[in-house]
Amino acid sequence: MFKQDPDDLKPCPHMETWVSAWLDGALTGLMRWYTEWHVAHCPRCTDAVPVLRALRARLRRLSETPGGEALTPERRAAVVSGWERADQASGGAAPSES
Ligand SMILES: [Zn+2]
Repeated sequence: MFKQDPDDLKPCPHMETWVSAWLDGALTGLMRWYTEWHVAHCPRCTDAVPVLRALRARLRRLSETPGGEALTPERRAAVVSGWERADQASGGAAPSES
């Protein structure tokens, strides 16, 4: 059985910004079409989208809690990277740089 390294559950580096904007519904026109096309045809991005969606759901819940709006982008990034580290640790796979 093939288990993917959690590190691989990210969009292609050049698509990361677009995919996350797309999930936010922030893309229109050609970039939206291109990003949808890429996600549909790229196994790496296809796998990454549910992970990004889950992260977003967690962020949304966080921002709905009282005081959540006081979260700075830096703090938010730290929280997200903390989750990513926790996810990697629970996956039991060693992080690898590509
Ligand atoms: Zn991709």
